[in-house]
Amino acid sequence: MLAAFLLLGAGTQPADPDDDDAEVQVRAPEPSVESYDVRGLSMSALRDEVEAKGPEGGAGTSRVGLRFEATQRSNAKGACEVATVRVIAETRILLPSWIDKGLATRDLKDRWACLYRALEEHERGHARIHVENAQEVARALKGTPPQANCVDLAKEVTRRFDAAKAASFAKQQAFDRDTDHGRKERRACE
Ligand SMILES: [Zn+2]
Repeated sequence: MLAAFLLLGAGTQPADPDDDDAEVQVRAPEPSVESYDVRGLSMSALRDEVEAKGPEGGAGTSRVGLRFEATQRSNAKGACEVATVRVIAETRILLPSWIDKGLATRDLKDRWACLYRALEEHERGHARIHVENAQEVARALKGTPPQANCVDLAKEVTRRFDAAKAASFAKQQAFDRDTDHGRKERRACE
């Protein structure tokens, strides 16, 4: 499940001529994983705990954030163009942590392990899509056509970023629709 989608633009700043940054850069740190505790010694007890303590609408979630920083410069024709683009893509995954599993039967542990793997794989799928989206966003911003002045350039960069936001969100929603929020994979564990 995708819990939140946050996109922030840092705006477009003048390029530092001494800066030798790459023209297009995507930073995507490993997703961070947070957990909430659940207890139970039967599958139905665990389900109730997930229902009560888990995120609304699912057992796990991904929160994704995307930020960009762009710099501008004057080109040979006196127009304002994008010099460098940096996009930072972050994902925070939330998953259940079964804290009294040491007391459970082997069978229940195996079923939980199967469910947990499917859940984690689904959330990591959101994280992978997020990185692909970030690469597309970076390319789209770098591809902004030069504008007569830098105010217009900043507006166009922001417009492209907003359009990319809508496209990225649609891809995440399609992933949830195609996998029924990961339930398809989890059903194999029943
Ligand atoms: Zn999902």
